[in-house]
Amino acid sequence: MHMADTIFVVGHKNPDTDSICAAIAYAELKSKTGSRQAKPMRAGEISKETKFILRYFETDAPELLGNAAGKKLILMDHNEVGQAVDGLEDAELLEIIDHHRLGGMKTAYPIRFNAQPVGSTSTIVAKEFSLNGVEMNAKTAGLLLSGIVSDTVMFKSPTTTDEDREIAEKLIKKSGLDLQGFGSEIMRAKCDIQGRSIAQIVGGDLKEYDFSGEKVGIGAIEIADFKDIEPMREQVLREMERIRAEKQWTMMILMITDIVRGDSKLLTVGQKLDVLERAFQKKVHDRAIYLEGVMSRKQQVVPPLEKTFRDLSKKQ
Ligand code: MN
Ligand code: MN
Repeated sequence: MHMADTIFVVGHKNPDTDSICAAIAYAELKSKTGSRQAKPMRAGEISKETKFILRYFETDAPELLGNAAGKKLILMDHNEVGQAVDGLEDAELLEIIDHHRLGGMKTAYPIRFNAQPVGSTSTIVAKEFSLNGVEMNAKTAGLLLSGIVSDTVMFKSPTTTDEDREIAEKLIKKSGLDLQGFGSEIMRAKCDIQGRSIAQIVGGDLKEYDFSGEKVGIGAIEIADFKDIEPMREQVLREMERIRAEKQWTMMILMITDIVRGDSKLLTVGQKLDVLERAFQKKVHDRAIYLEGVMSRKQQVVPPLEKTFRDLSKKQ
């Protein structure tokens, strides 16, 4: 088959487990149901957590897609230009599957856009298998279950829906996995910051947002205890400022989530810190805001910031 006919299925930059596992499974489904070959790709370095999962299911990591220009493309787990692979503007976008806010992407042609407010893109892909009547093997079920468990932080995140739980139940049966044992191994891999560089801690799960014309970078990291990151605080802030200046963002935030407490701390550098204070109705102390019961960037951090920036831009 000619390479130009291949459809490349790719998640966002700084890929997480959901964007990798959903891409692998969806490429499989596309290849089985369509006339073209579909190939899973990645838009960046794979995390320790995802490596652990791929090793567990003896699955090769997708190849790196450095530039998508001229390629047929399906985007997984994002719909914002700032988060997408380079060359998107010169690619032929066919389809998007996602579970995030609409990020203002424009296309030249109609595309298939499958957006659902569920806990993971893997959940949507699992549904697509049943909708298309395609039988799923144990390995694919395990990969999709991993995507759900990872994105919902083992069903603790407020983004978790009943649908995620129902689909996870089915995937557990199909994969034959013991959820408690396997899930806690994923959580351990997710929270293990030992041996990670400061660059990986700050930039491993970093997304760029456009809030009413202001560019803001929001990184996220999950840890087992806030104490684990305290010794690196100054280095982390320096790295955040370095990235912010390089990208020319208004501000950069690092959302540090203690998954045992279920709370988050937002570290911040840059300008307009008053927007942050207004968005969360809290004072920034020593470059940080503490948010109780906050575990989801897209549901609890992005919306108040988006709204506050929007309100301010209207007043100007
Ligand atoms: Mn993701
Ligand atoms: Mn996701």
